[in-house]
Amino acid sequence: MQQNNPDITLITPDAPVDTATHGGRAKCLQRLVRLDLPVPRTVALSFDEVHRIAAGEMPDMEALIAIFENEELLCVRPSSEDPDWGGPGAVLNIGMNDARHAALSEIIGVPSANVLYLRFIQAYSTHVARLDPDLFDAIDMTASDALTDVLRAYEEEAEEPFPQTRPVQLAGVLRSMARAWEGTSARLLRQAKGAPADAGLGLVVQSMVLGVGEGDGESGSGVLQLVDSATGLPQIKGRYLSQAQGRAALESGAKALYLERDPRGPSLQDKAPEAFEEIRRDAALMREKLREEMQIEFTIDNDRVHILDGVRVQRTARAAVRIAVQLAKDGVIPKEEALIRIEPRSLNELLHRQVDTSAPRDVIGTGVAASPGAATGRIVFTASEAQASAARGEPCVLVRRETSPEDIRGMHAASAVLTERGGITSHAAVIGRGLGLPCVVGASSMRFQTLKSLLTAPDGRVFREGDIITVDGTRGEILAGAAPMHEPALDDAFQALMTWAAGACDIGIRANADTPADAQTARNFDAQGIGLCRTEHMFFEEDRLTVMREMIFAKTSEDRRAALEQLLPMQRADFTELFRIMQGQPVCIRLFDPPLHEFLPTDRAGLRDLAEALNLPLSDVTRRVESLDEYNPMLGMRGVRLGVTVPEIYEMQARAIFEATLDASREGAPVVPEIMIPLVSAKREVELVKTRIDAVAAAVRTEKGAGFDYRFGVMVETPRAALRAEDIAPHCHFFSFGTNDLTQMTYGLSRDDAGRFMSAYVQQGVFPEDPFHTLDVEGVGELLRLGVERGRRARPDLILSICGEHGGSPESIAFCREVGIDYVSCSPFRVPVARLAAAQLAI
Ligand code: PEP
Ligand code: MG
Repeated sequence: MQQNNPDITLITPDAPVDTATHGGRAKCLQRLVRLDLPVPRTVALSFDEVHRIAAGEMPDMEALIAIFENEELLCVRPSSEDPDWGGPGAVLNIGMNDARHAALSEIIGVPSANVLYLRFIQAYSTHVARLDPDLFDAIDMTASDALTDVLRAYEEEAEEPFPQTRPVQLAGVLRSMARAWEGTSARLLRQAKGAPADAGLGLVVQSMVLGVGEGDGESGSGVLQLVDSATGLPQIKGRYLSQAQGRAALESGAKALYLERDPRGPSLQDKAPEAFEEIRRDAALMREKLREEMQIEFTIDNDRVHILDGVRVQRTARAAVRIAVQLAKDGVIPKEEALIRIEPRSLNELLHRQVDTSAPRDVIGTGVAASPGAATGRIVFTASEAQASAARGEPCVLVRRETSPEDIRGMHAASAVLTERGGITSHAAVIGRGLGLPCVVGASSMRFQTLKSLLTAPDGRVFREGDIITVDGTRGEILAGAAPMHEPALDDAFQALMTWAAGACDIGIRANADTPADAQTARNFDAQGIGLCRTEHMFFEEDRLTVMREMIFAKTSEDRRAALEQLLPMQRADFTELFRIMQGQPVCIRLFDPPLHEFLPTDRAGLRDLAEALNLPLSDVTRRVESLDEYNPMLGMRGVRLGVTVPEIYEMQARAIFEATLDASREGAPVVPEIMIPLVSAKREVELVKTRIDAVAAAVRTEKGAGFDYRFGVMVETPRAALRAEDIAPHCHFFSFGTNDLTQMTYGLSRDDAGRFMSAYVQQGVFPEDPFHTLDVEGVGELLRLGVERGRRARPDLILSICGEHGGSPESIAFCREVGIDYVSCSPFRVPVARLAAAQLAI
C-alpha cells in the first residue's frame, strides 16, 4: 500500500521536498538521491505533519510502514529548517522485536543481534516510554541473559510488554520526537540560536543498513570529511568503527579506525580499500554538487557502501574562510558567494590571537568585550610599571580603574588592558581597538584596588601585582593564569577574501590611525587612507608634555607661540611619517580636541614636579591648574572652542601639516592633506578657523616658494552642526560624522559613564542595544540623515564620512550606505570586518 498523504513523501529525485517545508536534512538527502548516491530508502514528514503528530493526530501508520520493505528496520532523524537549530536525537533500529531478533541472530549472530535489540529497547524506554534512564543500570549488557533482564525490567516499569510491532513502535518514536521539539526548553534553546518562535520540525524515516554482521566482507559505520575543521586545509578527517551503527565511531572510548592509511594504527583504507575510495569519491561529488564541504555519514554493510546523511562540516572562523575561498577558486561557487558566506565579525578570530575555546577556562571576571583578541601577562597597575615590564621583555596586563591619555604609553607597552569603568567608546576601548590590543572594560564585578595593587574576583580570589592573568577581549572575560591560544591567521585565504571584498565594495573604507604603527596596520589591511588622525595623543610623549604644559601656562600669546615653536618640528615629523607610510593615500588630520587640563598633573607630586620644571611657586601652579578645572569638560573648553580662543595651537598644527606636506611630496607621492576641525556647532567658528588656516597655508607657500593643496572639513558631532549643516557646508570640502560625541550629545549620555548602567538598560529593553556600539538609527541616525541632506543641499560635491566607533560595525555601515556616505573610517583592525560587511551589502 502506498501513502497518499501529501505531507508524507518518499524521497525521490522529483518528490516535492523543500527545506522550508521538510527541513534541511530531508532536502539534503534528496540532493544525495539526485546524485545517485547509495542512500537507503527515506521518507520525509513535513513540518505540518509533525505538528499534527505532536497534537496527537497520527498518520495512517500501516500505510507509512508499507512504503518500506517487509521487516526492514527503520530509523528516524530530525530535520529542522536550519541544522544549527538542533532537534531531538535520532532513534535507530525501530522494528526490533523478539521475532526479528531471532531471525537476525541466525544471520548476523546472537551477540550482534543482542546489541541491536538492547540499544533499541534502551532508546525507546527513555525517549518514548519516558522511563527512568537508570532503569537498566544494574544489568550487565554483555551477559548472555541481558536481553531477558532488560525486557523484564521494561515490562515491570511500563506495566506492559515491550511493543512488538513496527507501526506501534514507529508511532511512539514519531510522537515523542514531535513533542520533544515543541517543549519549552527545546524552543528556548533554538530561539537562542536564532530560530523563529514557530520554527517547524520535519522528520525523516529511513530504512536501516545494519553495519553489523558476520558476512566475510567489512561492516561498520563512520563519518568522513575532506577538510580539517580547525584550519579548513584539505585533509581526510573522520572516524570509522567496524561492526557499529550510526555515529558510534565518534563516541569516546570507541576503538575507531583511521580512515586513511596511517602509521599510528589500522585504517579503513587498509581494511576495505574499495569502500574507502568510493566514500572519498562520494564526498568529493557532494562537495562539488552541494557546493559545500560536507561531512558524510556512511555505513558499510558487507563491503557495500551506503550514504545515510550529509551535514555541513563544522568549522572555525579560520576554516570557514579557507573553505569558502577554496570553493570559489575551484569554480564550485562564485566569489560573491564566498564573500556572502563569511560572517564579517567572525574575521576578528583570524586577526588576533584567541583563547583556544576547546581548553578549560578559569573565568575570574567579566566586562565589556571592548577590543577583540586575547593576551596573557603579569598584572601591573600603572602605566610606568607597564613600561618597565615591557623593557624587561615581560608581557603585562595593565589594570586600571579607567585609562586617561596619560596611560597611552603604558597601553602601548602592555599586552592587554583591563578597566573597572567605561563602555565601548571609553578611552581604553578606543585606544585598545586602535592598537589591536585585547581589552575588557567595565569589569565592575571585580574589585579594583589599584593603590594597594590588588584585584579581587567576585568569588573572593585575590590577584596581586605580578600574578598572571589572561584578558579575553573577544568574549569580555578575565581568566586566571595563562590560557592556551590560537595564533592569528592572516594567510593566503584571508588575503584572497579581502581582495575580492575590496573589488565588490561600493563604499570607501579608511582607518582611524594616530601613530605610524596604526598607519602601517591600516596599510597592511589596504585601508583607503586615514579617515581620522587624532592628534592629541602626539602631545603626551614624555619630551612633549613639558613643552605642552609650558604652553598652557604661558601668559601671553608670544610666550605661547614660543612654546609651540618647540613642538612644531616634532609635529611636522609626525605628519611626514604618516604621509610617507600612506604613500599618497588621503590622510585626514583632526586638530587638537581635548580640554587642556588633561595635560596637567592631578596629584601633589606631579604638581610639585611641574612647579620645578616651570620654575614657579607651587601655589601658582596649583591655582592655575584649578582654574582650568571644568564641571563638565566634555562640554567645555575643547575642540574648536580652543581653536577660536587659543588660535596658536591650530596655527602651529596647520603649519606642521603644510610643511610636512611639502617634505613628503618632495620625496614620495604628492600629498593633499585633509584638515578637520572637531566639535563645531556654529558657522562662525568654521569661518574663523578656516580663515586662519588659509592664512597659514599662504604664509607657508610664500616662505617655501612651493605650492600645495589642502582640503578643509569639519566633524559633525554636535546636534547643532547636523541641524545647521547647510550653513556650515559652503566652507567645507568634507564632513565627518563623529558619532561617538553625536551619540553622547543626542542622548545627553556620558560616553565615559554610560557603561555603569548600560547593561541594565539593554537588559530591560530601554535601549535595544548600547547606542555607542550600534548606531541609533532612529535618533542619532535621523540627525545624520539631516546633516547629509542639508550639507549636500548647500554643497553637492561635499564628501561625507563617519569616523566614530560605529564606522566599523556592519549594521551601521548598512545605514551609511543607505544615506549616501562616501566612506567609513574605523580602527585599523576593524578594516577587514568593515570591508567584508560593505562588500556583502553591495553584492
Ligand atoms: C567622535 O566623537 O565620534 C570621534 C570620532 O571623536 P572622538 O572619539 O575622538 O571624540
Ligand atoms: Mg568626538
